[in-house]
Amino acid sequence: MLHLFDTAAGKVIPFEPRQPGRVSMYVCGPTVYGPPHLGHGRFSLVFDVLRRYLLWSGLEVDYVSNITDIDDKIINRANTEGRDWSDIAEKCESVWWRAMDAIGVMRPTSDPHATDYVEQMVELIADLITRDVAYVSDDGVYFSPSVVSDYGLLARQTIESMQAGARVEVADHKHSPIDFALWKFVKPGEPSWPSPWGEGRPGWHTECVVMSLDLLGDGFDLHGGGQDLAFPHHENERAQAVAAGRTFARHWMHNGFVEVGGEKMAKSLGNFTNLLDLVESTDPRAYRLLVLRSHYRSPVEVTRASTDDAAAALRRLDSFARRVASAQLPSAMPDPTALAEFVRAMDSDLDTPAAVAQLFGLVTEVNSALDSGDTATAAALAAVVAEICAAVGLVLDAGGSEIPAEVLERAAARDTARAARDFAASDAIRDALIAEGWIVEDTATGTQVRPA
Ligand SMILES: [Zn+2]
Repeated sequence: MLHLFDTAAGKVIPFEPRQPGRVSMYVCGPTVYGPPHLGHGRFSLVFDVLRRYLLWSGLEVDYVSNITDIDDKIINRANTEGRDWSDIAEKCESVWWRAMDAIGVMRPTSDPHATDYVEQMVELIADLITRDVAYVSDDGVYFSPSVVSDYGLLARQTIESMQAGARVEVADHKHSPIDFALWKFVKPGEPSWPSPWGEGRPGWHTECVVMSLDLLGDGFDLHGGGQDLAFPHHENERAQAVAAGRTFARHWMHNGFVEVGGEKMAKSLGNFTNLLDLVESTDPRAYRLLVLRSHYRSPVEVTRASTDDAAAALRRLDSFARRVASAQLPSAMPDPTALAEFVRAMDSDLDTPAAVAQLFGLVTEVNSALDSGDTATAAALAAVVAEICAAVGLVLDAGGSEIPAEVLERAAARDTARAARDFAASDAIRDALIAEGWIVEDTATGTQVRPA
């Protein structure tokens, strides 16, 4: 059974879906105001791997990931560039999907947009005001987290320590420094929607509560995102749900940061390299392999050297895939022991580094089995390699595996010549094939040819 670290519990616990056989997950998506950065790539890959593994395990997965298409950052960019805010959101969203497609991230089953949910957000805010946990101020509507007794659960802090640590801002509009905005009143030149309290727009934390509960229902299985979202974003989402009497996510999963040369990859440092640069300048699969090589809760270093290394490892896997394809192995069930080892690693809080180590170990074993002509072993282990790749979303390129029939005929002719002890003829065929760029190997099952 799958076990995952739960941020709220602070430990690894069994992951038990609300409904057997069906997993509902919500992953906070991007605010579309610029190109996706490497941190976006990482969380998308981490949750894509989880989703694919669940699917591979035979579960159904409802995967919701939102698009924040109205936000301060979008408005600021629109004002700076003298453009329409919706034009920026639309263009950046299309760039987002292009990048996701490039790194092989499956599209969500649902991708709600904040602007399509404003009415429902207004309803939630009205409900929170009625419950006396939110209040109207001079620049918007605010929520008081102090009414939620376990506020701070995801931050692993108590509300008292947060209140003590909160910077005392000049904020007449807030009752307490930890209060957060549910609704922001419109300022000149900003887009706005109607509400009972005045024209304005919703706060980001309200968006995800409304959309996740609407699309996945109360007590949905998993809420995820980068670890920088645990607090305040997820904490504030949860606080609203709790205050509204709703059952929120049953499990919280957060992935670690991306580092570039040891520095934390945070937008505020302005040091991110954008994801499109990465996919355009290297094998886009390299980022997935890099992410798989690190545990999802650990930082991952994304540098030219680490992506080059992953790209080289992928070339080894591709060459392996070509060799297996050209070996035309008998169909075989995956070796059960090796398959169980993979499942054990993944079920142990998604230990993908162990799974990747196993994958490369299997490649070595299959190559040895092919060298010694043990096609049964090779086939059973190669089937495990295929299963692992499918489960984690690694697509190997066996292209070029189509050895031309004419080449295969000459390899067969060489075997005939050898059987007839006509070594001059067999050597001549071999030398000609090598000269044409083929690797020619003598195996127990005869001459094997594969691309160099
Ligand atoms: Zn969110």
